[in-house]
Amino acid sequence: MPSAEASGWTDLPGGGVCVQKEQLVNIVEPKVFLVGETRLVEEGLQAFLRHTGAPEWTSDAPSDSELLCEVMGRLCYRSFQPGLNPNVTRIREGNAPYLANIVEVGHGSVLEHAMLNFIFADVSRVVTHELVRHRTGTAISQESLRFVRLDTLSAYVPLHIRESESGMEVFVRTFEELERIQRELAALYAIDDEKKFDVKKKLTSAFRRMAPIGVATTIGWSCNFRTLRHVIEMRTDPHAEEEIRFLFGKVYHLVKNRYPNLFADYEETDVDGLPWIRTAHPKI
Ligand SMILES: Cc1cc2nc3c(=O)[nH]c(=O)nc-3n(C[C@H](O)[C@H](O)[C@H](O)COP(=O)(O)OP(=O)(O)OC[C@H]3O[C@@H](n4cnc5c(N)ncnc54)[C@H](O)[C@@H]3O)c2cc1C
Repeated sequence: MPSAEASGWTDLPGGGVCVQKEQLVNIVEPKVFLVGETRLVEEGLQAFLRHTGAPEWTSDAPSDSELLCEVMGRLCYRSFQPGLNPNVTRIREGNAPYLANIVEVGHGSVLEHAMLNFIFADVSRVVTHELVRHRTGTAISQESLRFVRLDTLSAYVPLHIRESESGMEVFVRTFEELERIQRELAALYAIDDEKKFDVKKKLTSAFRRMAPIGVATTIGWSCNFRTLRHVIEMRTDPHAEEEIRFLFGKVYHLVKNRYPNLFADYEETDVDGLPWIRTAHPKI
């Protein structure tokens, strides 16, 4: 098990960790893995553009996701080029201004077409309980603690705990004890000798009831861009919980770089060492 000092917590608000070298607990920070994103089918798009009478249309979108949102928006008014719709004499050129206008007028449904697939690792059940409250535009697969037995416990340590030597001592002692209890239960019920998987599952589920809500786990979380904007706004707010603010600050930095035109209206300020991401166009 790595010690807190070995964990390299450079990104955490408040920085340093107050922990004795001999105190061992799996201290972790949330990790963001973007494992999937929407991909354009180029030949399908070209066939559609020929069908609609705009075979020459191209986009300067930096990503397939931004391109797809633009295409879905433009087909509403046939605004690929002037004259395709006799009512349209001028069109907005360029992916950035096009998506900026979509955001400004609040046509958020256009941003639902492109999806992202994340895996969040080393996040507590505090975070996952809050994350699953976001229902619309999401898909969720969570590590099962009925199936996956907790033999070691890992945890994020919030600022108020980690900046206090005595707070840290209580935290580490509690986790060490709860981890020891998991091993004690496993030995008491001889779960390693159990052959029937359904019995193992029942025992594992019983044991997890004695694990803390702060235990780190893994969740697969997919969402569309409309949802992601809303969740970033809500979960980086200074009133949100520290760990989920940390997580969605990381998510924001990743997506802001990768899909700049879908997040161009956002402003970032620092509150308590974590980013607060705001826009004049919330929840479009
Ligand atoms: C700082 C903070 C503190 C919080 N404190 C608490 C708390 O103390 N207790 C608690 O229970 N929760 C709390 N929450 C969770 C919060 O109440 C929401 O459940 C959560 O943020 C999900 O957001 P959402 O409701 O926008 O839903 P999402 O699923 O993200 O939906 C996005 C939007 O879609 C629309 N929508 C979604 N579902 C429906 C529907 N069924 N009907 C109509 N419109 C819908 C709404 O406009 C909604 O805003 C807190 C959240 C934050 C950020």
